[in-house]
Amino acid sequence: KGPDPDLVAIAERMATVKHKILVLSGKGGVGKSTFSAQLSFALAEMDHQVGLLDIDICGPSIPKMLGLEGQDIHQSNLGWSPIYVESNLGVMSIGFMLPNPDDAVIWRGPRKNGLIKQFLKDVDWGEIDYLIVDAPPGTSDEHISIVQYLQATGVDGAIIVTTPQQVSLIDVRKEINFCKKVGVPVLGVVENMSGLRQAFSDLKFLKPGATGETDATEWAMNYIREKAPELLSVVACSEVFDSSKGGAEKMCHEMGVPFLGKVPMDPQLCKAAEEGRSCFVDQRCSASAPALKSIIRKL
Ligand code: ADP
Repeated sequence: KGPDPDLVAIAERMATVKHKILVLSGKGGVGKSTFSAQLSFALAEMDHQVGLLDIDICGPSIPKMLGLEGQDIHQSNLGWSPIYVESNLGVMSIGFMLPNPDDAVIWRGPRKNGLIKQFLKDVDWGEIDYLIVDAPPGTSDEHISIVQYLQATGVDGAIIVTTPQQVSLIDVRKEINFCKKVGVPVLGVVENMSGLRQAFSDLKFLKPGATGETDATEWAMNYIREKAPELLSVVACSEVFDSSKGGAEKMCHEMGVPFLGKVPMDPQLCKAAEEGRSCFVDQRCSASAPALKSIIRKL
């Protein structure tokens, strides 16, 4: 029996991709897609050629996070063309193929695997430095498929995104063990939503006993401006999630994988993701952008 023609086609396609990085998480909602999107923006801004592949087939949020909702994929004789945000940042997602963004994709494993195979075989990335693969949460069919299909060409490694609390970290341990089992190096773990950081001047206040916040904010701000104006430039920080057991850093230490750093919960980063923007281009994401940049520099 000769080599699997699909794997040969994937290897040929991947021959023009220098680095392949998987972005994984144990649970949903921890910021994996946000990280994948901002990592792609950052690498593109560093003048690399970047491809972002969204294989979160049941919940593709990458088109929205890159500001590409409603776009259609085009085919050429070279294959499926990615949708370009910038000339050096191309994106492919099942989100582009759904006639209606509210459509549910209810597929069994083999169909999902078929699409992942097709993404790897048929997308015409051209010569790129990085292919960032945004995977669904957990360790399911999609993960086994992508690792298996990329086996011949190899994967540089996986970045695992988590939040600080134990319920998320328990699943990260499984994710790390999955990587070890299938031979994908863990590039490191990112602790996202690690405390809430917000400029004091952006906070909303409740007047004692009041239920509405608008008046109370004005009231509190006037009070602060008058009595303690130096507070306005202070960044408020709140721990939100329980990280008393040491969070991701301690877990990384125990499991012998690198800890890449912490990204705080930043309402401005959430806004950038909602609007499909890079968080690095202006000063708005001042609480999270430097943390993300420092993590990306470690890769
Ligand atoms: P996942 O891919 O893990 O399911 P998402 O990236 O879709 O998670 O993030 C879930 C929500 O949390 C999104 O609305 C996103 O904008 C928001 N979010 C992610 N990380 C942060 C952060 N550090 N600060 C504020 N909001 C965040």
